[in-house]
Amino acid sequence: MNVLDSEKVAGLLVNAGWTLTAAPDSADLVLYNTCSVREKAACRVYAHLGQMRGLKRRRPEMLLGVMGCVAQQEGEEMIRQVDGLNLVVGTRRWHLIPQHLDRLLDGEAAAIVDVEMDAEPVPVEVDNVLRANPFRAFVTIMEGCDNYCAYCVVPHVRGRERSRPAAAILGEIRNLTARGVVEVMLLGQNVNSYRDPSPRGLTFAGLLDEIAGLPDLRRLRFTTSHPKDFDRDVLDVMLARPTICRQLHLPAQSGSSAVLQAMNRKYTRAEYLAKVDMIRAAPEEFSLSSDFIVGFPGESAADFEETLSLLEYVGFDSIFSFMYSPRPNTAAAGWADTIPVTEKRERLMTLQALQERIQRATNRREIGREHRVLVDGRGREPDQLASRTDTNKIVHFHGPSNLIGCFVDVRITGASSHTLQAERIDHRS
Ligand code: SF4
Repeated sequence: MNVLDSEKVAGLLVNAGWTLTAAPDSADLVLYNTCSVREKAACRVYAHLGQMRGLKRRRPEMLLGVMGCVAQQEGEEMIRQVDGLNLVVGTRRWHLIPQHLDRLLDGEAAAIVDVEMDAEPVPVEVDNVLRANPFRAFVTIMEGCDNYCAYCVVPHVRGRERSRPAAAILGEIRNLTARGVVEVMLLGQNVNSYRDPSPRGLTFAGLLDEIAGLPDLRRLRFTTSHPKDFDRDVLDVMLARPTICRQLHLPAQSGSSAVLQAMNRKYTRAEYLAKVDMIRAAPEEFSLSSDFIVGFPGESAADFEETLSLLEYVGFDSIFSFMYSPRPNTAAAGWADTIPVTEKRERLMTLQALQERIQRATNRREIGREHRVLVDGRGREPDQLASRTDTNKIVHFHGPSNLIGCFVDVRITGASSHTLQAERIDHRS
């Protein structure tokens, strides 16, 4: 989501006459996009801004700005903390960055803070997103979240759920495919809550079905699904539409019903596993990925064991896992952070070691199978290409650079816990 927000702002700036540079040393503007979902990421923003101090001293005319969730959360405080910071723009105001820069350049103000949250009731439409990848694109379908999980800063920094009109989403994807994009990833904090605000009132399943039916779109992915909202309707559309990738990200967060209740996740372990069983019972194989937090306040050793057993039961293809850290304004921030950091670290290492073992075994089952992969770019070795299966597994194989952006048929010849190795069996398109 942050990558796409950066691409939207880059597009707006280019439209306003700015050009991109890879060299901050000679830039007229350095703008950081930021994430506050974990404490470490938020702290890193201040470290990065601190590193700009020398540059700002040498070239005081350079403008320095911050956008995104940390900007939304910190607001004025950032101007007080960071010497020479000119611009702080929140998650609902990034479309005004070109105007704010004009005001700064005209000398109307030395610093501007704009973190207004209520001004835009629907997601802002941007025609000229400056996408880095010519064949794969992110597309926003909804923004914000109404779920208020006890640990999560997102509803506080991104606001309430707002969906884009289906016609605007379909129009954007038609334009993308006309320009050669073959794979689209639909983005929303909770895509299953999507509701078309136009009179058609499409649900997420309806939207998915219409997008998957667009000519020239070869692959469609989406993230993130909330496990409480993922249902049979969406699975049926996925099964009926081969364009939709056989991949689902279903963040579990914990395997313990007690912890899930404390987290305000609104599903139990049994309900989560019932969704997994529904997916596993489908006539086609789906890859499943998930997110986990270890060391949530009150998580006992027995609760953590339940998370490990859930991992064993599901056999996820990949997971993202983190130690709990309290985030400002969240419900859990007011609770005692009961698990010592050494214990959190121990649990995280145990969880990740188990997942490594599961992934190695899951990936080994791929050896001998054939996949149609979309080639992303070059691998690390000479003549090596990096690609992805429909199930979102990374596959390396040898081939020429002109295959980048193409679909290629490969046979899997080797597997490690994170990547697959393959040989080319056919070049289709
Ligand atoms: S559903 Fe996701 S984005 Fe929304 S509050 Fe929960 S963790 Fe945060």
